[in-house]
Order: sequence, then structure tokens, then C-alpha cells
Amino acid sequence: MKSDRLSKSYIMSGVKSRMGREVAIAFAKSVNCETMEGDFCGNCKNCRMIASGTHLDVQIYESEKTKFGISIVRTIQQDSAQTNYRAKKRVNIIIDAHKMTVQAQNALLKTLEDSVSSCVTILLTDSDSAILPTIHSRSNLLHLPPLTKSRVIEILTENNLEKSIAEIEFDESGGNIDWLIWLLKNRDIGERIISSIAQKNNNIVDILEIAGDTDYHEGLKYLLPQIISRAMLKKNGFVSSSNILKTAVSHIASLDTEKLFNIRIELTKAEKLWNTGIKKTTLLQKTLIPLMT
Ligand SMILES: [Zn+2]
Repeated sequence: MKSDRLSKSYIMSGVKSRMGREVAIAFAKSVNCETMEGDFCGNCKNCRMIASGTHLDVQIYESEKTKFGISIVRTIQQDSAQTNYRAKKRVNIIIDAHKMTVQAQNALLKTLEDSVSSCVTILLTDSDSAILPTIHSRSNLLHLPPLTKSRVIEILTENNLEKSIAEIEFDESGGNIDWLIWLLKNRDIGERIISSIAQKNNNIVDILEIAGDTDYHEGLKYLLPQIISRAMLKKNGFVSSSNILKTAVSHIASLDTEKLFNIRIELTKAEKLWNTGIKKTTLLQKTLIPLMT
């Protein structure tokens, strides 16, 4: 950036729990900030519009589906054609780029070859080997390093979590705090999920209502694996200092071992199928009903 020699394409690898999306957005701000001095200012019009997701020249492309077809590349082409409203550089950010089909990747390659130098494409992925060698050869590959503990604590305290609690949660989550960031941003929904799972008298109506309500699906996706893996640790004698999921974890840890094991198997299957066309409610019920019965 400093020497003004940006590539037209970057592959950012190892993005899960490493704030890949935030890094890509910070990149877009840095190349477009109106008063860049060492770092983006965060206050100028470009920075603010990018932060709020309303900048027409900085677009994020993602899909719920397991595969991206060629249509995503057509959208990128069309959007890029009407470019540079007020940006210095247009930035296209593709989330989970490894989900692109070979056909879509070939179309993207063509787009990269044809694109103007004021357009930068960022491919975020956790498996850069699934990206075609031809795209690799036109891109800079950046491996994102794991976030340091102090940076994670900083992010959590910025999201209004007390520092001492943030340190405990970092240690007990092995540094993977995506679920906690989700919880801090969605406290009401999160609390309802935790308290429903924690109910001693197994209120199945309550839990089925949550499984059937799409507002809760994302939260269940984040919280259930944490609750269940912590419950298994607790069952194996691990003493936890964390209070955030405590009520739910204690309840689940009181279930018998075999049941807990089966729930975890169902949960793993659900995680694999999550981005397919299968109804989330159906997937969740398979995990949640055994918790309650
Ligand atoms: Zn700025």
C-alpha cells in the first residue's frame, strides 16, 4: 500500500476466527481513506460508508449455499462495470471463495485479467488449495496469523465485556471467540437460548419454538457447539471458571454420557449440512430434542 503497488487480487487464507472479514474491510478502508496517515481514519465519508456496508464500490459477496455458481461472478462483473462512485479503488470481497465452482473460478479468472487496476478482489478462504492455480498465479497469497491474546481481549472489551471475564473466556475457548462476539452483539436472543437449554424441567415447547424460529438459528449454530463441548469437558472433570454459559453447560453435563455423545454426533452432522438446502429447523431438532427428552 505504501509503495502504491497493490495487486489486483489477494487470497487471504486461514480466515476463520482470525477476523478475515474485518481484515478485508480494513484493507478496503485503508486504500480508500481520504485522510490516511499510517492507518485509516475511520471518520471520513469513505471509511464510514465502508463500515456501514453502504459504499457502492466496496462489496461483499457471500452465499448460504455450499457452492457458488457462475452467477456470483456475473454479479461481480456487473457491479464492477459501474465502478468508482467515490472510491479510489473498488474492492470486491468474496467470502468462502473456495465454495466457487471450477466454472465460476474460471469466469472470475477472466474478470481478474480484464479488470482495471483500480479494482481489487479479495478472496477469503480457509482452504486456499481449493482455489485454481491460475487464480493463485494472478494473486498475492496472505496467510493471516492467529490473533494475539491481547488483541482478542481488546476486541471483547470493545464489545462491552469486562476484561477479567474476557481473559477467562479466551482461555476456555482456546482462542476461538466467534461465538462470544455473536453473543455480545445479540444478548437478548443469546440469553433466551441459554436459559431455554438450562431449564431443569425440560420445556420442550420452548426449545422447539426456538428451533422453529429463524431468528434463533444463527445463535444456536454459534452457542450449541460451545455448550456441548464445555459440557463434555465438565463431565470429564474439567473445572471451568466461566459464568457465561454456565447454567446451560451444567444442565447438559448432567445428561448421561451416551446421550451426550450421540448429541455431539448429530451436531457434527448438522454443522456439515448447515449450508445445504436442508431446513435448519430439521437439523436443529435432531440435536435439541435429545437434549430435552
Ligand atoms: Zn478515512
